[in-house]
Amino acid sequence: MVKNRLIQNHIDSGLLHTHSFINGQWLDTGMDTLTVYSPIDQQPLINLSQVSESQITSAIESSVKAQQKWKKTPANSRREKLKKWLALIEKHKDDLAQIISLENGKPVSEALVEIDYGASYIDWFADQAIRIKGDILVNQNNQQIWLNKQAVGVVYAITPWNFPNAMITRKVAPALAAGCSIILKPSELTPLSAIALTTLADKAGIDPGVITLLISNHAEQVSQQIMADKRVRKVSFTGSTRVGKLLCQQAAKTMKRTSMELGGNAPFIVCDDADLDLAVDAAIAAKFRNAGQACVAANRFYLSQTIATTFTEKLVQKLKDLFENKTEQSLIIGPMITEQAKTKVLSWIEAAIAQGAKKVYTAKCRNDGQYLAPTVINNISSEMALFQNEIFAPVIAITHFDKLSDVIAQANNTDAGLAAYCFSQNLETITLLNNELEYGMVAINQGSLSNAIAPFGGIKDSGLGREGSDYGLDEYLDLKYTNLVI
Ligand code: NAD
Repeated sequence: MVKNRLIQNHIDSGLLHTHSFINGQWLDTGMDTLTVYSPIDQQPLINLSQVSESQITSAIESSVKAQQKWKKTPANSRREKLKKWLALIEKHKDDLAQIISLENGKPVSEALVEIDYGASYIDWFADQAIRIKGDILVNQNNQQIWLNKQAVGVVYAITPWNFPNAMITRKVAPALAAGCSIILKPSELTPLSAIALTTLADKAGIDPGVITLLISNHAEQVSQQIMADKRVRKVSFTGSTRVGKLLCQQAAKTMKRTSMELGGNAPFIVCDDADLDLAVDAAIAAKFRNAGQACVAANRFYLSQTIATTFTEKLVQKLKDLFENKTEQSLIIGPMITEQAKTKVLSWIEAAIAQGAKKVYTAKCRNDGQYLAPTVINNISSEMALFQNEIFAPVIAITHFDKLSDVIAQANNTDAGLAAYCFSQNLETITLLNNELEYGMVAINQGSLSNAIAPFGGIKDSGLGREGSDYGLDEYLDLKYTNLVI
């Protein structure tokens, strides 16, 4: 019945299974259901059945068996199957974008961008499948040292709700390219993109058991069962630092390899010699993607005292143009993922104002339900919740600085270390910022960082390992060293 709501949006019903996918079959469990709601209007979209404990056991077994075969499948054939999957994703792009939009809330135009971005990882890793290479070294004793890269084995992947399509392709594509099988557990808030992607992978001829999809809102129990199994050799997680740390503890018991893409708290530093128009455009790109709900979203805006007023005026004018004037250039912004997410940010704004911060702008656009109108707050100080935490909302929090050494110290004064943004036209300043900022990724004079050929990832509490690039492929490969005398 509820399924009709998705079909009313002209989504291909062939993409809308309601069960977990184990050993090449969509299995009904008859257990309790998980209802998926749309953050757009908080109404139910669909009921899905949840995976059972015994089905997880058989999922691991089929995944182990499938991996034995998949790792021996010629790399060229793995590449071709990934390319077929990619072609089907491109063919169903509009359906997939509608699904993202309904379950996550982002506008369809933005969902289409996510699909292209997610697909670019499949394209890139498919080609890298045939380029995995080893090495031969020779030591002083004329012994040969062979280095071989071999698939890690069965991978457990847990993904978040903010990019329900791309966070999956960013893990599945390198895992399959490397010869691993993967057990996927998407966020309970956005499992429909995972279902659609798995359906298309099956249609593309990816062998049964190579991709397993588990539907559940009992993330803790499902994960404990999988993490305790020593046959699962790796966990790849994108989500909060709290859960990432829990998974690392669980991984230690069976010494699983770990990739952790966790939360950020990105500084956005604008120096006195920056190109301010460029910095304003970059600020909007870095802040409002997915309504601010991105791990690399600019979080703490540090403006040089000398340009702070001009930058803020230009920023507010641009926001008015984008969010309030209905032109072709207008931006539509999606809702917060949950009501609690909105309430939390509103309480941080209220607390900041009570502590002396000043609201300088609230966009005259949707602010009802789970929508939060873009907001700019000035006079923020380091102890305020808006600077201490990942805001994860369309709220720009600003402070000012005098000296470069001060802003570097303040920017580094956080447990997070994912992304930082810097704006200056002086090479010496840029070099200093790049050297001193303790972040896994630094964007200079631009507002976006992520692409398939770059190693995406953080340091400190923002995680371990990288996604994208050959470094991302290495996360799914073990290095075997052989010493031999012939
Ligand atoms: P979350 O950690 O609550 O959930 C992420 C996933 O973990 C979901 O699939 C959820 O079901 C699962 N999960 C929850 N509790 C679990 C448990 N005890 N054991 C195992 N799995 C569990 O995070 P979220 O709120 O969905 O996502 C937002 C966070 O993710 C933000 O901090 C954001 O910065 C981070 N994130 C990071 C990146 C990155 O690449 N670094 C990308 C997107 C999101």
